[in-house]
Amino acid sequence: MTEQPDRKNRRRRRVKEIDCQCCRKTFRFCWQCRCGFAICQECMYENFWGLSCNGITWVCPECGDQNGYGNQ
Ligand SMILES: [Zn+2]
Ligand SMILES: [Zn+2]
Repeated sequence: MTEQPDRKNRRRRRVKEIDCQCCRKTFRFCWQCRCGFAICQECMYENFWGLSCNGITWVCPECGDQNGYGNQ
């Protein structure tokens, strides 16, 4: 009955980099939703028409929540 110490942290360096869940690349900055979804600037730009309807908020395709630009 031993607890497994967080093994998913092992292969990740503790650098503040985020994996874009759209193109699977790693970026220093991604737009992030509170549910954990992340999308890079490039993909956000490409999917802008589908993710944002007003240029002020973008809708997370994972949970459907609205996130604001310039929120972080
Ligand atoms: Zn991307
Ligand atoms: Zn979300």
